[in-house]
Amino acid sequence: MSESLYPSDRLRVAQQATAAAGLDALLLTPGADLRYLTGYDAHALERLTCLVLPAAGDPVLVVPALEEAAAKASPAGGIDLEIRAFPEGDDAYALIRGLLRAPRRVGVADRMWAEQVLAFRATFPDAEQVLAGGVLRPLRLRKSPAEVEALRRAGAAIDRVHARMGEWLIAGRTEAAVGRDIADAILAEGHAQVSFVIVGSGPNGASPHHAVSDRVIEDGDPVVVDIGGVTAEGYCSDSTRTYVLGAPPEGFATAYAVLQEAQEAGVAAVRPGVTAASIDAACRDVLTAAGYGDAFIHRTGHGIGLEEHEEPWIIGGNDTVLEPGMAFSVEPGFYLAGRYGARIEDIVVCGQDGPDRLNVTPRTLTLL
Ligand code: ZN
Ligand code: ZN
Ligand code: ZN
Repeated sequence: MSESLYPSDRLRVAQQATAAAGLDALLLTPGADLRYLTGYDAHALERLTCLVLPAAGDPVLVVPALEEAAAKASPAGGIDLEIRAFPEGDDAYALIRGLLRAPRRVGVADRMWAEQVLAFRATFPDAEQVLAGGVLRPLRLRKSPAEVEALRRAGAAIDRVHARMGEWLIAGRTEAAVGRDIADAILAEGHAQVSFVIVGSGPNGASPHHAVSDRVIEDGDPVVVDIGGVTAEGYCSDSTRTYVLGAPPEGFATAYAVLQEAQEAGVAAVRPGVTAASIDAACRDVLTAAGYGDAFIHRTGHGIGLEEHEEPWIIGGNDTVLEPGMAFSVEPGFYLAGRYGARIEDIVVCGQDGPDRLNVTPRTLTLL
């Protein structure tokens, strides 16, 4: 794990942003924000692990004693950050009360467990709680060059899985059996974790977030395969390709050609200065003009990084202006209930001059 992927100055930058937002401190339990700031991939447990990041003063990573060695072995152990372990059974909230005394406004991690949010409310009864995401989102939104390369490595890993699809996607097998092989390959090709495996064959492809089922895949089925994982570096992959076993059904190839054109249009529109909504429109206009607008039932995409789904949302109405380093999916689809579906998904980074695609396996209709 390169040092530059989790640079040591992020804590200081986040402290300045915390102060600028009028907060006295951030309280970050295990999750993407904690990892972003420290590199520590902490376990979410009933025992409290929490980065206490005051707007001014020294940040402290509070960990249970039995997690101390793991925390110190992580990149958090190599930056200027005190790691304070508390003995089994001690009250970690009391420890943190001692660190912050009487804050007026604190930012809690967006994905903090409710029981911890309420415990912090009892710990600091006079403090207003707000979401820490408001402070950290602008930082995480623009990926550093090291983060873009980490996302590129994740993209290449999932591309290697798609490139092997013909080994597993065979008529007569169930979606579940194919899905198990794909999950094994996601790990074998360079991920530490499988995030999801969607194998939507025939009519199941019309449900965008279908996972897998015991349906036997038949000759002539279009199959939507949407897969992703997390690399050891912490960055996520997410790519969809649609395959057809044998000859495609009536009308499918025509619709797919429009979908491919829509996806190309969305990717081509990516550049600094345009809105997230304009990328959605670039995809949607092509499908709508060809009569498939009603079949495209979801937003065009989502940001990706340390989380599978994060901002920016590529959706109509989102006026977020794209900047270099923003990373997100461009994944239009069409879904015809009872018949079939299709989706093409690449992760794209907004470069200085235009799109930088992180998934490069063929997007033409792949007949297996
Ligand atoms: Zn999705
Ligand atoms: Zn996906
Ligand atoms: Zn996606």
